[in-house]
Amino acid sequence: MKINYDPKLDFDDVLLSPHRSKTASRSSIELLRNFSFYHSDKKWEGIPIFAANMDTTGSIAMSEELFKYDMATCLHKHYDLDNLLQEFYYPNHQWWSMGIKYSEMEKLAKFVELSGIVPNLCIDVANGYTDDFVNFCNEIRERCLTQWSGESPIIMAGNVCTPEMVQELILHGGVDIVKIGIGPGSACTTRLKTGVGFPQLSAIIECSHAAHGLRNGDGRLGLVCADGGCRTPADVCKAFAAGADFVMLGGMLAGTYECEGDWQYEWLPDRSKMIRKSLKFYGMSSSEAQSKYGGVKDYRASEGRVKEVPYKGPVKDIILDVLGGLRSACAYMGAIKLKDMNKCAEFNLVNRTHFDQSV
Ligand code: 5GP
Repeated sequence: MKINYDPKLDFDDVLLSPHRSKTASRSSIELLRNFSFYHSDKKWEGIPIFAANMDTTGSIAMSEELFKYDMATCLHKHYDLDNLLQEFYYPNHQWWSMGIKYSEMEKLAKFVELSGIVPNLCIDVANGYTDDFVNFCNEIRERCLTQWSGESPIIMAGNVCTPEMVQELILHGGVDIVKIGIGPGSACTTRLKTGVGFPQLSAIIECSHAAHGLRNGDGRLGLVCADGGCRTPADVCKAFAAGADFVMLGGMLAGTYECEGDWQYEWLPDRSKMIRKSLKFYGMSSSEAQSKYGGVKDYRASEGRVKEVPYKGPVKDIILDVLGGLRSACAYMGAIKLKDMNKCAEFNLVNRTHFDQSV
């Protein structure tokens, strides 16, 4: 048994310090980023925010809308092949999601064969700490290169929350972007069911440090995507400031017009028409999702919750709020572009991050 005594921090434990800055206006702050990758020779340019591949938020409608803002969507993995063949038209901004079943590998192989597209991949499991996971990620890269297309896709994979596993996935799993987050998700109950997890801000700080410390022969770095726990634009700012290269959002986007799923409707007061009231939003390993897609396995606890989220209107409103928050945070911190946020960041430990606005 071992106890670590150095404190581990969450988004709510810190605030960012403002610094003197030459930035004239918030509108001049550059949020676009250009990435090259440790393994893949592809480049990616955009605002590095992803919609999560949950079956509500990882929708085709979401990808079409986020594309307009140069942001990406990890499409959920429950679309059938025909659907994907018809709707997959922004390969840089629509990422392919999969778990580690061989049936999922076959589906991807078929897609590549029929479409000729080598999609960027999000390989996603609840627990990214197994050898099987590392081997599977490696095998996918090998197959893309040697059997399916001769091209090397950008591979994002996770989830993990500690530096040694970040390095393992990059060095031995052929992963370009490691997805960070065990337990912080808004629909996640892993911490309650298992006691396992890691405060997300510290996980991002420690894991990005480990990833950025790895350089391939051409000087291209390992990267991380902070996944889970962002509830406000401020949390997204803190995630980038902590070192995240990409940030993935589930709950923040849940309930927007572009989501798929079970909507509740209500009558307008004058009963002239029905409007959206709320969306059923659940974790992808909740018993809800497990029974929808393949049956609950009794050796495994359900580690997701189900909730009704109110209708939030078009996702555009949330996006503009997040992008405005990021520009403003950069201006306060003295960063002229998103890329510099981490360099300019100074976090302060606080007892509370904001006052209750209700009084
Ligand atoms: P959010 O932005 O809602 O806080 O977090 C989204 C992330 O939560 C997803 O991208 C995924 O990694 C994680 N997640 C989604 N469903 C579940 C679940 O059922 N259990 C757990 N442990 N994590 C989940």
